[in-house]
Amino acid sequence: MSVMDIFETMDYGPAPEGASPALAWLKEHQPFNLFINNQWVQPASGQYLDSVNPANGKVLTQVASANSADVDAAVAAASAAFEKWGKTPGHVRARYLYALARQIQKHSRLLAVLEALDNGKSIRETRDIDIPLVARHFYYHAGWAQLMASELPGYQPLGVVGQIIPWNFPLLMLAWKIAPAIAMGNTVVLKPARYTPLTALKFAEIVQESGLPPGVINILTGEASQVGEALVRHPGIKKIAFTGSTDVGRSIRRATAGSGKKLSLELGGKSPFIVFDDADLDSVVEGVVDAIWFNQGQVCCAGSRLLVQENIADRLLSKLLIRMERLRVGDPLDKAIDIGAIVSSTQLQEIQRLVARGVEEGAQVWQPSWACPTDGYFFPPTLFTNVSPASTIAQVEIFGPVLVAMTFRTPAEAVELANNTRYGLAASVWSDNINLALDIAPKIKAGSVWVNCTNLFDASSGFGGYRESGFGREGGKEGLYEYVRHAWEAQLASPSGYTPTGRAANGASSSSFTDSLLAGIDDELDGLSAPETIELPAIDRTSKLFIAGKQARPDSGYSRTVYDPAGQALGEVGDGNRKDLRNAVEAAHKASGWATGTTHNRAQILYYMAENLSVREDEFARRIVQQTGRSHVDAMSEVQTAISRLFSYAAWTDKFEGGVHRPPLRGVVLAMPEAIGVIGIACPDDYPLLGFISLVAPAIAMGNTIVVIPSQIAPLSATDSYQVFETSDLPAGVVNIVTGERDALSQVLAEHDDVDAMWYFGTAEGSKRVELASVGNMKRTWVNYGRTRNWLDSVQGEGQEFLRAATQVKNIWVPYGE
Ligand code: NDP
Repeated sequence: MSVMDIFETMDYGPAPEGASPALAWLKEHQPFNLFINNQWVQPASGQYLDSVNPANGKVLTQVASANSADVDAAVAAASAAFEKWGKTPGHVRARYLYALARQIQKHSRLLAVLEALDNGKSIRETRDIDIPLVARHFYYHAGWAQLMASELPGYQPLGVVGQIIPWNFPLLMLAWKIAPAIAMGNTVVLKPARYTPLTALKFAEIVQESGLPPGVINILTGEASQVGEALVRHPGIKKIAFTGSTDVGRSIRRATAGSGKKLSLELGGKSPFIVFDDADLDSVVEGVVDAIWFNQGQVCCAGSRLLVQENIADRLLSKLLIRMERLRVGDPLDKAIDIGAIVSSTQLQEIQRLVARGVEEGAQVWQPSWACPTDGYFFPPTLFTNVSPASTIAQVEIFGPVLVAMTFRTPAEAVELANNTRYGLAASVWSDNINLALDIAPKIKAGSVWVNCTNLFDASSGFGGYRESGFGREGGKEGLYEYVRHAWEAQLASPSGYTPTGRAANGASSSSFTDSLLAGIDDELDGLSAPETIELPAIDRTSKLFIAGKQARPDSGYSRTVYDPAGQALGEVGDGNRKDLRNAVEAAHKASGWATGTTHNRAQILYYMAENLSVREDEFARRIVQQTGRSHVDAMSEVQTAISRLFSYAAWTDKFEGGVHRPPLRGVVLAMPEAIGVIGIACPDDYPLLGFISLVAPAIAMGNTIVVIPSQIAPLSATDSYQVFETSDLPAGVVNIVTGERDALSQVLAEHDDVDAMWYFGTAEGSKRVELASVGNMKRTWVNYGRTRNWLDSVQGEGQEFLRAATQVKNIWVPYGE
């Protein structure tokens, strides 16, 4: 072969990385036991599982198969360790995280080789991407451990955290989970994926070397049915952090419902890769290679849907086919290959099944002319054209090196196609027109948007999904909140205040005020001056529902009587049902322009609401007195706090700003808190006005539109506020109010696929039902587990906790430079 030939073909020989040190390390340790309390412990079952190299199907080693007894032991170790670790000064924790980062760097090549052997991903990627990002994650979070006391004042760790990770980025997912958890003072029990336990076991050794206190990090290998499920259900665990499939995420949501465990889920995706006709097509081709052939396409945020502007589609696709022909599939330890092995035969078969389905559905399939190696689990880079947007391959996560291409004509059509998925993890936008790219980015429902780049990750920038891609963020300051809680939450009152009193209409029992409120009622009534009671308005009208800016009769044609604490009828409200909620959700969707209007305008309307409420404060106070029997003075203070709260959220509207992250990149990452969409809100019974305003105001301040179920037993403060809304220029449909039985209505909203989040402040049982019902579209939930907070208190009743619940962070990556 002449130099000229070589220049033409750009062919090159293999560049193998030696596996001997990694194989020797495996041999020395095998079989691997469980890592509990910094000790290697034999599994209770006495059983071990094979770990297989997917590039050749050979067994690499055996790892312990843990069961629920081991989970008990690990949780006990982590609980004991938490007593001290949770109180360890941030600086000390920072030093441990720093030590872990240093050790990871020192063992980086061994880790890179082990990862390639165990997972089948190329050494080029494990060496240059996975392992450096792992170290960076520990360094970055060492910083947050150091700064926790000053930057998260009033917050404390949760306790023992259960973490379940997938096989596609084994050590990186471990780092994403463990680093923030221990930085914030939690202790951890982590389960690696069945297919890829090895780097986690090497990491365990690093934990020992770094001298972390025993029990802070515990690692249990084994199977989902034995370890994963036991972790999820374990009562000693305060939070579950999971990355994996949407189906398993859903089952974890069900299993933890009502338990009070915090939950973050990073699930699947079907991310769009949008190419406008002014994009640099050669860069786009390399972008596509990264988007879908990186890690064999086994990436939750893989750009698996190529959306190309119609007039450049042929040109781009022909360039892409040429590039595909040049890609190399083969031995992951060869530094010159582009695509390694699929993680397992099961995953390979699933990819083959879905590709066959694409062909059956009439799409045109393109693959390179060369053949893949046959001694392992390999699959060639694959492209589908002539794909219909509703077809299986355009909708289902294939989780392999398979790209589907579709075309669009206008930017609006691109956005529509991009959002035509149940997922919302990431998106890539390619255009040389920055105005266009930055106009499109906020319109795409996804947690990360990459402009003229793709698959960039960094510890500084939160990662996570919208919609059925899950909730919660990993990385960035936003990710820390997944691992902390307010110190006052530990002292929250139990739900005992919610005892049915039978004061609601239609024979329905209802929740009541808190014990503390009830205790004072008789005294307060005695203390009321006679004129105050006589002047109360007569029962003269039935409040209707409030939907699309209009008062609407309930579909049921029934009303509910509202009683005072002495059992006297005060008035009537509509008894809302499923149909009313459907109309309300529809109205809320129609009002979605509220999110795209200016924050200044939203702030003005909230101030205006405060002004209009203040004009009628006496009337509102009297209504509270009627419904609760509390003193007028007390009621006035509730109204005034509600007015102040409207001021607070008017102020926050243009001040809850997000941030600009500083990853190691020539560029910026804009972290934008965005409205979630339509939020269903079930209000607490105590503080009929303040509970209502405290939830409505932050939700609409952040641009959401809402469907609110007011207090079941004291709904009149909410229904009286229709006029406040009407006179405050609040656009129709932004706030919709449906009165009725709180738990029945909440259930409907929590199940509704067009509701994006559900907030519920009621009973423990109702909270559980909301969490269970939310799995349909994996909506975000915020529930109180029947615990009452003090709504009058500005720490518990308002602030950033509410704003975070009302938003989801989108990270927009914008590289710069020529
Ligand atoms: P899973 O979601 O099944 O597994 C992810 C992790 O969860 C693993 O550690 C697994 O354990 C564990 N797990 C599984 N079931 C349960 C359960 N009921 N309770 C607790 N833990 C559980 O992903 P798969 O490995 O089966 O992959 C299937 C599909 O999931 C892929 O084809 C892909 O579409 C998607 N996926 C998405 C990922 C992402 O990053 N978003 C990552 C991986 C997969 P074990 O390994 O022992 O089964």
